[in-house]
Amino acid sequence: MSHRILLLPGDGIGPEIVAQGRRVLEALRDNHGLDCELDTAPIGGAGYDAAGQPLPEETLAKAQAADAVLLGAVGGPRYDELPREVRPERGLLAIRAELGLFGNLRPAMLYPQLADASALRPEVVAGLDLLIVRELTGGIYFGEPRGVRELPSGERQGYDTEVYSESEIERIARLAFAAAERRQGRLCSVDKANVLESSGLWREVVERVAADYPQIELSHMYVDNAAMQLVRAPKQFDVIVTGNMFGDILSDCAAQLTGSIGMLPSASLDERGKGLYEPVHGSAPDIAGQDKANPLATILSVAMLLRYSLGKSEHAERVERAVGQVLEEGLRTADLQGGSRVVGTVEMGEAVVGRL
Ligand code: ATP
Ligand code: MG
Repeated sequence: MSHRILLLPGDGIGPEIVAQGRRVLEALRDNHGLDCELDTAPIGGAGYDAAGQPLPEETLAKAQAADAVLLGAVGGPRYDELPREVRPERGLLAIRAELGLFGNLRPAMLYPQLADASALRPEVVAGLDLLIVRELTGGIYFGEPRGVRELPSGERQGYDTEVYSESEIERIARLAFAAAERRQGRLCSVDKANVLESSGLWREVVERVAADYPQIELSHMYVDNAAMQLVRAPKQFDVIVTGNMFGDILSDCAAQLTGSIGMLPSASLDERGKGLYEPVHGSAPDIAGQDKANPLATILSVAMLLRYSLGKSEHAERVERAVGQVLEEGLRTADLQGGSRVVGTVEMGEAVVGRL
């Protein structure tokens, strides 16, 4: 069965880094038996330029028909003056919503060669390899009622509502347990069950799902402690599962532990395993078009795409090993410390392809 992969280069460095992701996919297709068809469509500012909207209808239709989507980045100063509803970022929010991507996977990995880049001591982070599974379409960011109301006293009051239904908790929990099964088999569920009702239900449902995964070692942690533990001893974690807001905060914290924004991939998945894959970093307009961008976050996003949407773990590992090897050989893009030779975007992509 041929897998359909849609490439959405987007803006800024997006086209440069997605071009390198594409080469990796083409090399796997041509030399390693990966059966895939690649297509491309505009999104973000590029979508606005091509069709007057950040998520053109044709792009959405292609994304709906694809098995997986690889996205570069959207946005840039050229589009800052546009009305809010056609801003590039709207394209990204719209495609996530249209595709029903409820589960966000953000690994924080630190290749041993890059341990000096972290703000923490090398021995605390070297070899760090954790995965945060964040619920992406529920919780306080979307809960109703929300708003600003006037109290009888005349004072205004802002309010939001943290809501999670059992089915929402169950599907993110299942995604996290399945991810833990593929990794070291340890799952830590993060909540605030000592204070929040929604967290009490969260914990209950996660416990219920755990019965289907007896081989997974499940623990629970309050979010304040989890933040502390992430900075104190991050290597204790394998997979963390948590709600939308806690996940937003903890995943940025975990990303910074590695100190290498140009190295971090992400995945957003729907209920059938279809996903949108993208680097954690943005469109980096300051270095766009200069062959300076680090393509490895995008290439590692390709590895996630292979693993989570195509079920091609061996191809995924091949890509991850190739990335480790080019780092071991001393190649670095300008954003990475150490090494013995600074290379550009294209040369880094070529090097990874060469080690596949
Ligand atoms: P966004 O709002 O889209 O997330 P941002 O301004 O928060 O954008 P980035 O676009 O990620 O952040 O850029 C932050 C800094 O990191 C910039 O100086 C940028 O050049 C650098 N940077 C981001 N991605 C890369 C990359 N792949 N390679 C090298 N440097 C990068
Ligand atoms: Mg940002």
